[in-house]
Amino acid sequence: MQNIALLGGTGSIGASTLKVLRLHPDRFRLFAVSAHRRTDALFKVCSEFRPAVIAIGHVNQLDEFKTWLSTLAGYAPELLVGASALDVLAAHDEIDTVVAAIVGAAGLSSTLAAAKAGKRLLLANKEALVIGGALVTAAAQQSGALLLPLDSEHNALFQCMPSARPLKPEMGVKSLWLTASGGPFRMATEETLAQVTPEQACAHPRWTMGRKISVDSATLMNKGLEVIEAHWLFGLPAKDIHVVIHPQSTLHSMVEYVDGSFLAQLGSPDMCTPIAHALAWPDRIEAGVVRLNPLTIGQLDFSAPDLARFPALQLAYDALGAGSAACVILNAANEVAVERFLNGQLPFLGIYRAINACLQHDFLSSSPSQAQLASVDAVLALDSCARLHTADLIDAGRV
Ligand code: NAD
Ligand code: MG
Repeated sequence: MQNIALLGGTGSIGASTLKVLRLHPDRFRLFAVSAHRRTDALFKVCSEFRPAVIAIGHVNQLDEFKTWLSTLAGYAPELLVGASALDVLAAHDEIDTVVAAIVGAAGLSSTLAAAKAGKRLLLANKEALVIGGALVTAAAQQSGALLLPLDSEHNALFQCMPSARPLKPEMGVKSLWLTASGGPFRMATEETLAQVTPEQACAHPRWTMGRKISVDSATLMNKGLEVIEAHWLFGLPAKDIHVVIHPQSTLHSMVEYVDGSFLAQLGSPDMCTPIAHALAWPDRIEAGVVRLNPLTIGQLDFSAPDLARFPALQLAYDALGAGSAACVILNAANEVAVERFLNGQLPFLGIYRAINACLQHDFLSSSPSQAQLASVDAVLALDSCARLHTADLIDAGRV
């Protein structure tokens, strides 16, 4: 029996994780769960799974939440509150596996706490690797924590990679090919892109996801963040990590080997598959997904991304080339710009302009080196500066 901590239990990845846990009560126990604001959704999870530990981000609804809990007879969980509660929960002695499913930089500290504590770490929170990849991978190496990617592309790559780590030249991995659906605006003109609404941006053609990652998919920044994520997970340089548009979202990424072989993983576009894979690895378990029928797949298309219409992808490659500080700034500016877009305060094309403007600022010349970004505090301090600067740029109408 694996004791699971689910960080971000009320989100889209949280819901998919719970679906898989429901299928396998004999293997997994939801021991701990966290949520930020949606205490009503959290309460539903707690009524069904009765986790022993609960972490809530905001104190606001605490009293109401406690009242609700008191209606569940014979159930007295430990209740933790505030951002630091997430770190405590991630490192809890009785937990074997941490599912890191918080969105954004807010997930870095708890992801790192799980890595330091040597947990089996199922990572959906890609932003944690984008801004703290060096910290998380070094901590995992030191503690022996097993890092299993949940992001569908990285999970596919993990499945197609040699199992031994670290990779050695004789294993013959030449490059990685990340597939991207192209998002809802794959065929849109520049004029259409200038007018798109948050609702249109969040209506992804293949995947149902949280709002932030949906917008990232629409700008292709999601793929850019995934290039950086792949770099930290698998250790390949930016020049060996390619992106290919594959609108069917059936093939979830490929590993190219020096002998000319390409290994790919295929499946329905449903996050329950990578989640079930990582939960059970190295075993395989039922994921409860609609099965792919090879006889009805039909055509699989592949094409190069259009960097003129989706320049955010290039920004991410450039940031990876420029180093850790640029990646922190890229991510922070993107989080602010996406939130502003979702609130109707920035046009869709303004997201790219805001990130680009923030990266152009003299932050980079004066920002900390890789060695100086050696702690969560240092990373989050730069993250805060970049957030303030991006907000100023937007408020001043300079993007
Ligand atoms: P979501 O918005 O649906 O859920 C986010 C979760 O994070 C919620 O449980 C929320 O309570 C929690 N949260 C939000 N802000 C927080 C904060 N400041 N502090 C603590 N907790 C906070 O997001 P999602 O779509 O489930 O995505 C979660 C992560 O997984 C993201 O990093 C995303 O890029 C990645 N991911 C998601 C999918 C997907 O299909 N949804 C696929 C691949 C990767
Ligand atoms: Mg992905």
